[in-house]
Amino acid sequence: MTLDVAWADRWTRLSAERIAAARDELTELDRQIGDGDHGENLDRGFRAVVAKLDGSAGEEQPPGQIGDVLKLVATTLMSSVGGASGPLYGTAYLRAAKVTGLQELDAHGVVALLEGALEGITARGKAQVGEKTMVDAWQPAVDAAEAAADAGASTADVLAAAAAAARQGAAATVPLVATKGRASYLGERSAGHQDPGATSTAILLEAARDAATA
Ligand code: ADP
Ligand code: MG
Ligand code: MG
Repeated sequence: MTLDVAWADRWTRLSAERIAAARDELTELDRQIGDGDHGENLDRGFRAVVAKLDGSAGEEQPPGQIGDVLKLVATTLMSSVGGASGPLYGTAYLRAAKVTGLQELDAHGVVALLEGALEGITARGKAQVGEKTMVDAWQPAVDAAEAAADAGASTADVLAAAAAAARQGAAATVPLVATKGRASYLGERSAGHQDPGATSTAILLEAARDAATA
């Protein structure tokens, strides 16, 4: 099954629901190694995104393609989310929108979308794997998606592989020492806590998976 703009719309709305439900968990994680605002930041951002999606239905040009939805998410997150994660996720969605010009995505198109997002994050934040950031969820997600697509998996199974790898990657940030972002101010004391941004990445990719089977 190919993924169309209706999937992108479902993904975005489901992301908003899941982020709202995880708001306190994300905030608590960020309280431990940051400034305790990650849940609030993303919840505010995704609420604004859904308001834009709802509003755009009455406008002349509602999002007609996957890339239009991703671009709406990007610009809204950039303008409504402060802190590190707003520009990082904003750039991720913007880059993903650019590589997603086609009307519908096949399995390799899904890989391209995820790869684009990761490239946006690393272009903006310069973090590499192992620095205890959202990259530690995105990179394994991209690798797993690529392997699945190369093995002939469906779009839904590519997204399932990506989501599972992101969730594992987030869990694997616990022992890491942060060397990027606010958590790096703690040095060695950042070890023993799961990274908030890697955790929200897992939530967003699980929403992408579930939107494909909804
Ligand atoms: P802030 O730290 O400005 O309060 P948030 O709390 O919303 O912003 O987001 C923190 C998350 O941003 C971290 O958990 C981490 O995953 C991510 N992050 C911070 N700096 C970087 C970076 N340079 N590259 C990738 N991700 C980063
Ligand atoms: Mg924070
Ligand atoms: Mg902050």
